[in-house]
Amino acid sequence: MRPQPCVLLKYGELAIKGRNRGLFERHLLRNVEHAMSDDASLRIRQRAGVLALSSRLPQQELMERARQVIGISVVQPALRVPRTPEDVAASAVRMLHERFGAGHAGSTEYSFAVRARRRNKDFPLTSEQLAAHVGQRVCDEFGWPVDLGSPRIEVMVEVDRNEVFVSVEKYSGQGGLPVGSSGRALVLLSGGFDSPVAAYRAMRRGLHCDFVHFTGAPYTGPSSSYKAYALVRQLSRFQPDMRLHVVPIGTAQRSLATAGAGQLQIVAQRRLIVRAADVLAHRLGAEALVTGDSLGQVSSQTLSNLANTESASSLPILRPLLGYDKDEVMAEARRVGTGEISALPDEDCCKLIMPPRVATRSTPEQLTRLEGRLDLDELVEKLLTNVQVLSPEELAPAS
Ligand code: ATP
Ligand code: MG
Repeated sequence: MRPQPCVLLKYGELAIKGRNRGLFERHLLRNVEHAMSDDASLRIRQRAGVLALSSRLPQQELMERARQVIGISVVQPALRVPRTPEDVAASAVRMLHERFGAGHAGSTEYSFAVRARRRNKDFPLTSEQLAAHVGQRVCDEFGWPVDLGSPRIEVMVEVDRNEVFVSVEKYSGQGGLPVGSSGRALVLLSGGFDSPVAAYRAMRRGLHCDFVHFTGAPYTGPSSSYKAYALVRQLSRFQPDMRLHVVPIGTAQRSLATAGAGQLQIVAQRRLIVRAADVLAHRLGAEALVTGDSLGQVSSQTLSNLANTESASSLPILRPLLGYDKDEVMAEARRVGTGEISALPDEDCCKLIMPPRVATRSTPEQLTRLEGRLDLDELVEKLLTNVQVLSPEELAPAS
């Protein structure tokens, strides 16, 4: 076996604490396979607490992709080498030359430490002996002082059952918990900036997300649905098997207006979409709804209105952005890659029927009286018979 470049993915023991390790690892593996699914040359080796990826792709590209995967805390470019102390030391020297250059030999600016561990103990040297062996070679080659406390350079040596992994640098990963390891949720996805970021945050806490988008059809055009598709497509990098459910509610919105919603139109619409989402979530096996609400951000997101939408759902409504400022949401949207899509114009169904004044407070009694004039169960049932289901794989390729 010749030394072979690879990338190590680690998830940190802390994340697993109190969790089912098998479940956690299964979801993580599935997400990594999904993120790399277009790379036929990919090989994943599973070791205790570590995944080792090798591929024909340049190591740099493999690294960048790995850093996108939710649930990975550390990403390390490494060499996979034969299980002999000589091979390990030679590879460490080679990597240090490649990374820091021969010109730095003798430089006292650099200090180093070798950290060795054995995930497999069937090896001729103890961890300490192996670290000392490699350290001696590095010292001979570069003349750098050893600093075990806070070295400039750390050489990491990890003995495994079929190989030893050697690396000289590490990067932070995306963090979070593997998507799917915390259960399922249904995200209420509008065309705005907030809900896609809320979805990303929910996925980061391990929730497998399905999506529902309500359009004002037949009174509005398809622009908001196109945006919803594009957003789901962008988010589908993080999760396999994504589904977008598009539900036209224009007619139902008119029914609310005709029933005399007046100032309550916005909160009544919100209750209607939450009620429909709740029924849909039960059918999909989701255990929570997720919205992009942030307290006080717009006039409809007062505590009173949040409470009144909450009561329309039998499932908990999770609001990952509750404490975010708008600029924090925008920055995260850019980072996640949904910002540009959210910035596109659309026809928001919530604005289809805007009363001259929007109630910032509404009492449950007012809402019960209004809703009593309609057969809500039938209305919701009708809405859901018109649902259109799409998955990113069926959509036009992203440009
Ligand atoms: P966003 O930026 O996500 O559109 P917003 O600041 O515009 O949020 P609202 O319009 O009050 O706020 O919507 C609050 C939340 O309600 C959204 O984040 C989303 O979760 C849900 N929502 C609003 N409109 C729709 C819609 N047409 N389809 C699905 N969910 C929606
Ligand atoms: Mg909006």
